[in-house]
Amino acid sequence: MISLVRRGSLVGLLLFTVALGCAKGKTASAASSEAAPGASATPAPSPARLEPAGAAMHIDPTRAWLYLKEILAFGPRWDGSKGQKRLGEYLHAKLKANGAQVEEDAFVADTPAGKISMRNIVAKFPGSKDGIIVLGSHIDTNYPLRKTNFAGANDGASSTALLLAIADQLRGKKLEGYSVWLAFFDGEESIPSATPGDLRWSDPDSLYGSRHLAQRWEQDGTNKKIKALLLADMIGDKDLEIFRDTNSTPWLEDMVGEAARRLGYQSYFFGEGGGGIGDDHVPFARFGVPVADIIDLDYGYNNAFHHTTEDTIDKLSPKSLQITGDVILETMRLINARGGQAAASAQKLQQQ
Ligand code: ZN
Repeated sequence: MISLVRRGSLVGLLLFTVALGCAKGKTASAASSEAAPGASATPAPSPARLEPAGAAMHIDPTRAWLYLKEILAFGPRWDGSKGQKRLGEYLHAKLKANGAQVEEDAFVADTPAGKISMRNIVAKFPGSKDGIIVLGSHIDTNYPLRKTNFAGANDGASSTALLLAIADQLRGKKLEGYSVWLAFFDGEESIPSATPGDLRWSDPDSLYGSRHLAQRWEQDGTNKKIKALLLADMIGDKDLEIFRDTNSTPWLEDMVGEAARRLGYQSYFFGEGGGGIGDDHVPFARFGVPVADIIDLDYGYNNAFHHTTEDTIDKLSPKSLQITGDVILETMRLINARGGQAAASAQKLQQQ
């Protein structure tokens, strides 16, 4: 990804886009300026500050790092590539070994570069409570860089490895709390036309997988059961700095911040921000699902490594995966203790 839209001032909405993301000249569409229905429609959670039961959960950073290396060994993983196909098989095998029910949401995306087959992969871990927490990551790598050796260590691989490390913590037990679904989104990156030099990032030409799944889950009623969707993206940077995002749901981001404080990781969260980030959470926010994008958009000085062949494993650290993974697990515990109420009141508000 990613587009970052700064908002503000006189007329209230979108003024300009900081093209932190994909290649150059990414433009903010009207759609992305309206991308925060989840953010504006959801009120603060219940004042009752219920504490989660039991001890905090932790990922194994050594295993997360191993998964990262295994994913990178597939090479570039843009849609239509061999690496993408092999990653899909790898994810199926790993998730099934963890006892998850694994499903595919296959479709053909109509892109400026032609029709491309894509599939989201969803791994389901059943819980004891009625409701779902979705954790997401995108699995494709940058399309315009497909003719290079770009393998997206941070942008694509880090968050995918992290979800596998989280799956290790969910395996083999009936979860106390909401069901947890891991959503591996395909087609997040922008697919511009084949015209040389056309590197524009735009809303209709990206987020193919998440738009498809959000639509499908809206039709089959799943979206209404989702208590929270936590998206991870670019979370491996050694110099970790998670941004605050105005396209995310405020109470859920507050909960992520609280989880970070509980673990002593508050200095890595929300020092920067103030913009609306275009990422796989947005299509779900548009349907009123509470969402939070956990993303570090300062990858190298002034985000210099983002969407370049410099996005390599030497810039990342297992510690950053651990911090993000543990904060996600702690946020899940908070949602299980309190989030159901928040989500319920949010939906009520939207119906008014
Ligand atoms: Zn990207």
